[in-house]
Amino acid sequence: MRLKTVYIFLYALLGLFLPTGKADTIINFTEKQKLWLQQHGPVTMCVDPDWEPFESIDENGKHVGIAADLLELISLRSGVIFQLVITENWEQSLEYSKQGKCQVLSFLNSTPQREEWLIFTDPYFSEHNVFITREEHDFISDPARLSNHSMVLPRGTSIEERIRNDYPNLELILVESESDAMKMVDKKKADMTMRSLSMAAYTIKKEGYFNLKIAGRLPRYSNQLSMGISSDLPLLKDILNPAIATITPQEIEQATHNHISINIVSPPNYKVIMAVAAALMLILMVGLAWNYQLRRLNARLSEKQGRLIELSKKLKEDIEIRREAEEASRGNAARYKAFIAASNAGAWEYNYGTGHLWCSPNYFAMLGRDSKDFDLQSPDNAFTIWNELLHPDDREQVFAHLHHFMENREETYESTFRMLDANGNDFWVLSRGKLLTDNTGKKPPVIIGTHMDINNQKKAEELIKTKNKELETFLYVTSHDLRSPLINIQGFSHKIEKQFLKLKAMVPAIQTQGEESDSLEQILNKNIPGSLAYIYSNVDKMNNLIDGLLTISRVGRVKLNIAECKMDKLINHIHINLGIQIEQSYAHINASSLPDCFGDEDLLNQVFTNLIDNAIKYQKPDTTPEISITGRKEKSSVTYTITDNGIGISEDHLPRIWDVFFRADTSSAQKGEGIGLSLVKIIVEKHHGKIWAESREGEGSTFFVQLPVEKFSA
Ligand code: ADP
Repeated sequence: MRLKTVYIFLYALLGLFLPTGKADTIINFTEKQKLWLQQHGPVTMCVDPDWEPFESIDENGKHVGIAADLLELISLRSGVIFQLVITENWEQSLEYSKQGKCQVLSFLNSTPQREEWLIFTDPYFSEHNVFITREEHDFISDPARLSNHSMVLPRGTSIEERIRNDYPNLELILVESESDAMKMVDKKKADMTMRSLSMAAYTIKKEGYFNLKIAGRLPRYSNQLSMGISSDLPLLKDILNPAIATITPQEIEQATHNHISINIVSPPNYKVIMAVAAALMLILMVGLAWNYQLRRLNARLSEKQGRLIELSKKLKEDIEIRREAEEASRGNAARYKAFIAASNAGAWEYNYGTGHLWCSPNYFAMLGRDSKDFDLQSPDNAFTIWNELLHPDDREQVFAHLHHFMENREETYESTFRMLDANGNDFWVLSRGKLLTDNTGKKPPVIIGTHMDINNQKKAEELIKTKNKELETFLYVTSHDLRSPLINIQGFSHKIEKQFLKLKAMVPAIQTQGEESDSLEQILNKNIPGSLAYIYSNVDKMNNLIDGLLTISRVGRVKLNIAECKMDKLINHIHINLGIQIEQSYAHINASSLPDCFGDEDLLNQVFTNLIDNAIKYQKPDTTPEISITGRKEKSSVTYTITDNGIGISEDHLPRIWDVFFRADTSSAQKGEGIGLSLVKIIVEKHHGKIWAESREGEGSTFFVQLPVEKFSA
């Protein structure tokens, strides 16, 4: 039953490929053709004796089959009588045709090889060739992709010729007949064969090959079956073609039906059924494909929807975070504005890449100017604004500082300089900034900062400087003025001493008695020499004080000769200079590998000599002085320490040791004028350095000296 349905389907398909023709049997031959027909007798014809149901030769030696039925119609309508030449097989028929033993071949495809000796009529039967495989084989869409596949075909067929050319990947097995080919596929001796659709249907049914199936077709491999005529009879072709054209699809269908005995449920119109079936099939396929596509799209849609929900959730979170951040940033911005307003500072932002400068209104207001008078929008306005506002003497220094800051990417920018207020007067500002760079390094660097009004402070500093200068001059002049009367006192004291000695030598000549003589003795030998000694010692002291004052005033005025100071060398030098003190006190000084600094070597020598000298001088009784000197380098400075195990300084006295003439312990046996540390402090501060001390009475002292590690301008 199933097989039957297949045949009906195959037959319906077959109908689609049948050639169309007219049943008009009246053919108007030309005179030439008519003459040919009259002159020629029967045309000899070879057929395939074993090609059922298309054609064969029956036991009575008669040509039978679909081709025979159709040839009968052609013969009838053309008037050409075909005379069968009996052969044993198709190969022999081909051979006979080549040898001229038969003038036509009844039913064959045209191939280039055959065209060498044959000319072909129009096809009078067409149908597709199909692949026949066993049930388990997959559908064949492209035979070129098959590897290790064998195809069995009858020898000498046109298909053999074409398959050999088109699909060299297939292993070809040749057999004698089509039924042998089917058998070989059935017995698994070959993977497939190829044959015409009706032939396949006929043989599967006849032989009962239920394990075989039609596994695909090649559109290019259709059978266009026509008659092959000996090439020397072209007129015969012209006579036969009009007859072939008269054959109708119904006649072909009838001939096929005669030899493929399938119980066909006669459809009113196969083409319509097929078209409807194909349309339904198409609709079904499209529907299925549509459904499948829809399901896929739905799945993708719901997946995308899920993702969308996730994304919108994330977006919501992001928006919330951003909103909070914006709120915080608005809060921060407001707070920063308030800070700046409260600090009374001017804010600025300078883009080092574009040269654009933005300044807050207060930046201008502190100079008594109005921000509206300046173009803050212009993309590279910095130099215009600065040229107008910076003091001409400080411009170069400001730009150099900024450039240095950018080159070295220092953490903070700090610079003090003068600007010009609205009246053209100097106005001191302290400018501080920070560099802002994005992590990608793509955006140009931006510096943001503030301007602080240090005008009053600077003016006060300048006043102090001037006063200090005046004081130094006064000190200098006074010291000199004091020194000349002192020299007079000293000189006259010497004169008095000399005259006194003369007088004393005269005294034994004066006769004195008793009490007077004792008193004279007292005056000459004790009182006058004692007073003279007192005068001398005070003159000395006064001299030292004047020297000290002069040194201080000189240090204040001296110009620093700044160079790199090799500290190990310097301490070594001091060690040698203080040789006597060290030897007498048995002091032990420990100092090595000190970092170097920048400064005036002579002055720094004075600093460290004073400090080491004090450390030896203020030793504890019966204790050997142990002095250690260290140095620690920081970013822009180096801090040296001088530690001793001496008598130390009381908490009360410690802050005053830097004052001129201050001596913590005047009863001390140690000599001194209380000038050394004042001098040291002045020198260190002249080097932009710092000095301080830590000490406990009876436990020793540590003096700290901080000095620059880079060259500086004094
Ligand atoms: P002086 O000429 O008196 O040494 P300085 O100015 O050098 O003057 O020192 C001031 C005072 O500080 C000294 O008189 C001394 O009392 C105290 N002093 C300085 N250095 C030390 C030290 N290393 N240990 C204890 N006291 C010190």
